[in-house]
Amino acid sequence: MSYRPYQQIERRKSRQIHVGRVPVGGDAPITVQTMTNTLTTDAQATIAQIRLSEIAGVDIVRVSCPDEESTAALAEIVREVNVPIVADIHFHYKRAIEAARAGAACLRINPGNIGSPERVREVVNAAREHGCSIRIGVNAGSLERHLLEKYGEPNPEALVESALEHAKILQDLDFHEFKISVKASDVFMAVAAYQQLADVCDHPLHIGITEAGGKRAGTVKSSIGLGNLLWAGIGDTMRVSLSAEPAEEVHVGWDILKSLGIRHRGVKIISCPSCARQGFNVIQTVATLEERLAHIETPITLSIIGCVVNGPGEALMTDIGVTGGGSGRHMVYASGKQDHTMPAEAMVEHIVELVTEKAAIFQAEIDAKKALDAAAASRVSAVLAAE
Ligand code: SF4
Repeated sequence: MSYRPYQQIERRKSRQIHVGRVPVGGDAPITVQTMTNTLTTDAQATIAQIRLSEIAGVDIVRVSCPDEESTAALAEIVREVNVPIVADIHFHYKRAIEAARAGAACLRINPGNIGSPERVREVVNAAREHGCSIRIGVNAGSLERHLLEKYGEPNPEALVESALEHAKILQDLDFHEFKISVKASDVFMAVAAYQQLADVCDHPLHIGITEAGGKRAGTVKSSIGLGNLLWAGIGDTMRVSLSAEPAEEVHVGWDILKSLGIRHRGVKIISCPSCARQGFNVIQTVATLEERLAHIETPITLSIIGCVVNGPGEALMTDIGVTGGGSGRHMVYASGKQDHTMPAEAMVEHIVELVTEKAAIFQAEIDAKKALDAAAASRVSAVLAAE
């Protein structure tokens, strides 16, 4: 949480569920999801795609299970990856049961679409038995007929009513390990639906703008929609839906969270757009640094600013700062203070070295704090056990 009051976001209070070992809702970190686009039956290709998403920092991955062959492949996929897998089912209750048996951590299925109450009960029993949570995924493009007739067209009220109807089916079976999404490709409709849903229930919410578009337009649209919701404290897990590779969705998801100061991972680069005053080629330098520093997971901030107009000011708010100077030498700032100059030709290598060293120091501090917290927690447990 930031110490600057204007950066505070008050998060909606939701109940916590688990997707495998990953908590969703409550005070758990807001997680980043994506979905594979390989054939699930091609387990090796799907595993490879999930691994790329893991490198990008994904927390949870969804995999489509349209047929029995896919749920058969799911067992191997689950075994070979490190993140929990959500099986995307939609209609067929048998696929849901197979996916639960195959090790899915969560089933994306709408209980109202499964059919008879007996089938719903079977799916819920399978979920319970195998420790699966459920995602109710309402989509403006596939609203139930009775709601379309009632409202005339998809709208936020219809999305919320649909979600609550599905939720009631699970609650009546005393199943509460579920989260809800109410997605629409229209950003106004999606945001309004999530706002209304957030007001009337405490279930964790999976947020997303569905079918947002290609990489650039989809990123903008998702940032507006998800940014708006997250800023208002709404959302416990998120997916940026792009017509792009899954790892790209993960990068964008992280960038949205980083922009709002909600979660930090890796190097956050603040850079100027550059202009005639730049002391070095800012655009090229930033592109190279993004690539060279992509493997760093420790949160750290770096400002790359072309000249003294904004450089010193931005450096004040970053761990390492660089400002373009004259005569082929540029200024390096450490924790906001001028530290030393570096020659233009060695710039990229030098920055990579500085960031790597500082990230290692930060990581050691994080690990030491974790060890201290764990020791304190086990002392408390020991005292409680002795009482
Ligand atoms: S910081 Fe300097 S180089 Fe960068 S855009 Fe502003 S004036 Fe131009």
